[in-house]
Order: sequence, then structure tokens, then C-alpha cells
Amino acid sequence: MAVDEDEVRSAAAELLDAGAHDPLDAMRHSASHVMAAAVLELFPKARLGIGPAIRDGFYYDFDLPRPLTPADLEAIEERMRAQVAADHPFERYEQDRPTALAELEAAGQPYKVEIVRDLSAEDGQVISFYRHGAFTDLCRGPHVASTGKLGPFKLLNTAGAYWRGDETRPMLQRIYGTVWETQAGLDQHLWRLEEARKRDHRKLGRDLDLFSFHPESPAAPFWHPKGMALWRALEEWSWEVRRSGGFDEVRTPAVVRKELWETSGHWELYQDNMFVLDDSDHQSGLKPMNCPESMLIYKTQLRSYRDLPMRLADYSWLFRRERTGALAGMFRVRQLTQDDSHVLCRDDQVIDEVNLALTLVRRQYAPFGFEPRFKLATRPPKKLGTDEFWDAAEGKLTEALKAGSVPYEIDAGGGAFYAPKIDVFLDDALGREWQMATIQLDYQLPQRFDLEYRTADGGFERPAVLHYAIYGSFERWIGVITEHFAGAFPAWLAPVQAVVIPIADRHVAYAEEVRTALDATGIRASVDDRAERMQAKVRDAQQQQVPVMLVVGDRDAEARAVSPRLRTGEERQGVPLDEFVADLSSRIAARELWPMTAVEGAAG
Ligand SMILES: [Zn+2]
Ligand SMILES: [Zn+2]
Repeated sequence: MAVDEDEVRSAAAELLDAGAHDPLDAMRHSASHVMAAAVLELFPKARLGIGPAIRDGFYYDFDLPRPLTPADLEAIEERMRAQVAADHPFERYEQDRPTALAELEAAGQPYKVEIVRDLSAEDGQVISFYRHGAFTDLCRGPHVASTGKLGPFKLLNTAGAYWRGDETRPMLQRIYGTVWETQAGLDQHLWRLEEARKRDHRKLGRDLDLFSFHPESPAAPFWHPKGMALWRALEEWSWEVRRSGGFDEVRTPAVVRKELWETSGHWELYQDNMFVLDDSDHQSGLKPMNCPESMLIYKTQLRSYRDLPMRLADYSWLFRRERTGALAGMFRVRQLTQDDSHVLCRDDQVIDEVNLALTLVRRQYAPFGFEPRFKLATRPPKKLGTDEFWDAAEGKLTEALKAGSVPYEIDAGGGAFYAPKIDVFLDDALGREWQMATIQLDYQLPQRFDLEYRTADGGFERPAVLHYAIYGSFERWIGVITEHFAGAFPAWLAPVQAVVIPIADRHVAYAEEVRTALDATGIRASVDDRAERMQAKVRDAQQQQVPVMLVVGDRDAEARAVSPRLRTGEERQGVPLDEFVADLSSRIAARELWPMTAVEGAAG
């Protein structure tokens, strides 16, 4: 399991702040202490890293004399159960910094010593600890009252984790566990984990022949024909949504001289994530984002207040020097394509344009069955600009959210340092939350690029910019929806929408006729004329999650009919071919969530 952002955030929260927002967090964190105590019983020389609560569970990092085995996890669980039975109270106590450092050093806990040393002067004067039974840990808490209050738990797996996520520091062994208030909660979670494993997009990408990864180009997918069919269906839909919002398409170069990145600030702030090239005697960067180049397009003419808003969509390739080796599949790739949008507008148009963005986000997500949730991310502690500027900018985003009757939460302090934003989240069929689009309001880039427009009274003003991508990147979106649908895409997205299956060789000619009729309306169909039994062909099409199988025999050929069998198991006999083609193509055109079984698309 790769370290994800959730974990990094939780780890940071443990060092800085209790961060117990979820009532289960105290129990999860308490479980990590109980696990660490059990590990120390088995490995008295173990050195402890950190052990935060995370979404749905907890982990703890250990420096151990040997790699852990599955049998070790069972032994650790057993010792954890003994501590739960003993019902040790969790007790907090405090020490001054020198005493805490001396005791942690004496206990042979160098990682804990490092944590205390790194605490700032104001945080680091009084150091708090929690004790239960014979175990003591540097900790901010909070905890449950006693070990007997832990609910049903299970240790899940181990993974390597660099100390503080730093490749130059020691690799520790991380044990993941999960704990719940009830056995039903635990069982449900274990089912979801098992289901998530089955739905892993890297596995489904291989099984469904959508894409592959190769060491020759790490962290960059190779798209197979079926994967590209899915991509194009997504792309068409997103263009339809953009066109409905009045966008124009632009395309900008990948290799861009460093002067542009200096103007935009990327050279200073983002260079570590860029591929830098020597192009003759000039340094260039492969573009990690489209924004700066859109600014150049704006600047090619003197713009008037009447030209605004200018809505530009750029679906070019982007390149980011992500760390390779992390097996994140589509979730962290080095070459990606966003459905990227830049809206240049007057300040008095910001509310309407944000409102449009919210409308387009909801429209684009609807045929996937997703209902997005929105969070308004407000001014962070370190920020550019005056309070008046932030009041006005946050006020505009708030007004747009209210105008669209969009329910939202506040993410206090979550904005970018230069402006507030609206983050968009969705929950997939397994109840996992994904952060997708961000609608970013920006006054900085127009200033850096000295953008202007001529006002009605002949003066000059600066436009504002809205940045947003709705899928985010196609790559990540395909990863998310592949897992959400477990590969059983609705017909409008399915790489192969219908397979025609002749019962015997003499039906192949009619099968081709059916395929031609489907093809004429743009339906992606194929004929399975392999020398296999009909049942085997149906089974294979089912495994490939093809929405519709059309078995054709003598009676169908005579009546110019088909006998459709849906992926969901629903069957009909002798449907007139024209009627069937019209019905299927109208479902595809309407982008219906069809055919779906409850488990494929159900939320929760
Ligand atoms: Zn703790
Ligand atoms: Zn941008």
C-alpha cells in the first residue's frame, strides 16, 4: 500500500495536534498504542516511529530487527486482546523538555527523540505522554478511557514506510489495522476492503485490456484500443458539457522556455516537479500545467470588457516529475491530460462564472451517478493580500454557491495562499471519498502576466481567472470510475457496447448484418465468430463486462430479430432488430446509467 495523502495528513496531525474530529479517532489512536505495546512485548528492542489514527483505522511504524510475517500479526493481535481484557486505563502525564528527551534517549527511542527535538519552542516546553499498563508513548491524545473500551479490531497488512516519508531516511515497517465500535462495522469494513481489492483498477485494467504500465516508461500508462474507446467516450461527454458552457478549445505546446515559468512562478515554486530540458542553449520545461500559456493567448490582442468572459479549454498533455516506484497506477502518473478550463473575466462576472462552473461540474458528474459535495476553502494563515481582498473573494464564492443552491461545507484555512477555492468531492460505490475538481479563483496570474482589458469608459482593468478541471485528469478519473463500476461500465462508456454471438457457423452472416446495423448508429459492437461453444462466448463477454450480448440463431435470422441478454442477466427473445438498435442507441445517447445491478453502482 502506498502512502497516500490522508496518511501524510494524519501523521502531521499527530505531531502537531490531536486532530480528533471523528469520535472513532480516539479509539483508533488508542488501538495504535495497544498495538505498539504488543509489538514491544514481542520485540523489546523495537524502535517506535509514529502511530496515528487514519480513515477507517490506524497504523504504527516500527524499526524492527527482522521483517514481520503473517504469524507475527496474529501473535500481536493475541497480545492486543490480552490488553483489552486487562482493561488498563489510559493515563496522561507531562514532562519538561529536558526530562522527556533524557527518558526517550534512555529508552532507546531515537525517532521519538527526533520528534521532540523538532517541536517548536512554544510547542516543545511541556511534553505530554500517555501510559497504559507498562507502555508509555509520547502523545497528544486523546484516548478512550481504558483499553477495555476498544471495539472489535483486526490487523490488516504491513508495508515499508520511510521515516517521515523521506527516501534518505530508514525504511520502517508499518502495520495497518482497523477498529470499529461494533462487529458489524468491522465486518462491513473488511468486506469493503476485499471488494476494493477485486476492483483495483490496475488489475481490472489488465483483465479488461484497457491499459498497461511498463518499466520503460514508469508511471505513465500505455492505452490499449479498449482503453482509448473509454477515453474518447469520456472526452466527447466533457466537450459536450464545455460547449454547453460556452467554451472554446485551445491547444498549447508541451516544450516551453523557462522564461514563461519564471513569469508564472513555476520555475521558483514547482521546478522539482518539472521535467527540465536543454533545448539548444536554452533551458525549457515540459509543461506541468496549462495556465501560463492560456495567459499568452489572452495577451495576443487588446481585449475589451465586451470580450469577457473568455472561456478557454485546453486538453493538452501535461508532464509532472512524480516519484516513480510508488505503485499508484492511474492515481499518480507522470504524463496526464486534464479537461482543463480557464475563464478570464471581469470582477463583476466572477459570481456568474463560478456558478456556471458549479453547474457544469454537476452536469458532467450526473451520468456516472455521482452527486458531488462542495467545500469552500478559505484564507490560510500564510497568505498574500489584505483582509478586504479575502473578504471580497470569499464573499463571491459564497454567493455563487448560494445562488446555485449548492450545499457546501467550509474548509477553514484550506485555500491557496493567493485566493480561496471550491473543492469538489465525491463518494464512490464503496463509500470512499475522492477529491476531484477544484474551482480556483485567481488574481495573481493576471498580475504576473500583466493582463488587462479596456473598460467601458476607456480605462484599463485586470481580469480575474478561474481555473478548473472537472474530471481532474482523465487518467485519475478512469482509475476512479473503473473501481467505482468494478469494470462494469454503463453502456455509454463501455469499450465494447454489444457483442453479437452466432449460435452456429451458419449464423455468422446474419451476425455481421446485426453488427453493421449497430455500427451504423455509432454503437461499438463486435461479432464473436470464434470456433467456441455459444455458452463459452457468453461467459467470456460476461467476464469482459460487455453490457449487451446478442445471441442470434435460425429464428432470429428468419425474423430479422435479436435475442438480447444483458450483463445483468435480463433476457429477451425475438426483439425486432430495428427496434433493438433504436432502443440501445437512445440509451447510449442519453448516457443512461444502464444496465446496472445494485452492487455495481450502489452508493454506501
Ligand atoms: Zn498517541
Ligand atoms: Zn490553471
